[in-house]
Amino acid sequence: MKRFILFGAPGSGKGTMGELIQRDFGYAKISTGDILRAEIERGSADGLRARSFMEDGGLVPDELVIELVRQRLERGDLDGGYVMDGYPRTLVQAEALTAVPSESERAIFLEVSEAEAIRRLQARLTCRECGAIYHRENKPPRQAGVCDVCGGAVEPRADDAAAAVRRRFRVYARRTLPVIRYYEHRQVLARVDGNGTAASVYERIRELIS
Ligand code: AMP
Repeated sequence: MKRFILFGAPGSGKGTMGELIQRDFGYAKISTGDILRAEIERGSADGLRARSFMEDGGLVPDELVIELVRQRLERGDLDGGYVMDGYPRTLVQAEALTAVPSESERAIFLEVSEAEAIRRLQARLTCRECGAIYHRENKPPRQAGVCDVCGGAVEPRADDAAAAVRRRFRVYARRTLPVIRYYEHRQVLARVDGNGTAASVYERIRELIS
C-alpha cells in the first residue's frame, strides 16, 4: 500500500490536488476535514464534539481524529494506495500514522504565498454532501449552488470566513509546520510550488508521483 501525504497551508490546494490524484491514479483520498464534516452532517456524537473546534478554526482533539482515520483505513477499499489530505496536522497524529505500515511513503508540501491562499479561500465553494471543491470564477458548478458530482448543496465553508481563516493560519504555523519538518527529517518530503493554476500545480505533482 502506497501512502501519499499532502501538506500545505489552508488554501494551498491539498483538496484539489487530492481529487486529481484520485482521478488519475485511482488512489483513495482520505480527507479528515471531509470525514469530520460528514460526521457533523450526520449529527453523530463525534460530529457534535468536533463542530465547535472546526467552526472557530482550531484543531479537533488528536484522539478523535486518530480514531476516525483508523476506522477509515480499516475499511480497506484503498486501491493499492491512498492520499492523505489534512492529516497528520500534529506530531501526535504523525506518530500514529507512522505506526501504520506502508509499502512506501511520500509527503508533498504545497508552498503558496499567504495572499494567494487567502484569495483562494475567499473564492472557494464546497459541496456539503461529497466535499467536491469549486471556485466562484475559475470552476463554478454547472448549475449555481448544485454539485456536479452528487447534486448536493454547494456553498462557502463556514470556516472560510475571515476570523476562522486567521486562526487556521496561526494553528497551521504552530502545530503543523513542525510536522512538515518531521517528514523532512524522514527524507520523504518533496516541496512543490503551489502557486499558479490547478492544472499547472498538478502537472508538477503528477511528475513526482509517476
Ligand atoms: P480541512 O478541510 O482540512 O481544511 O479541515 C477543516 C477543519 O477540520 C480544520 O480547520 C480542523 O478544525 C478540522 N480538522 C481537519 N483535519 C484535522 C486534523 N488532522 N486534526 C485536527 N483537526 C482537523
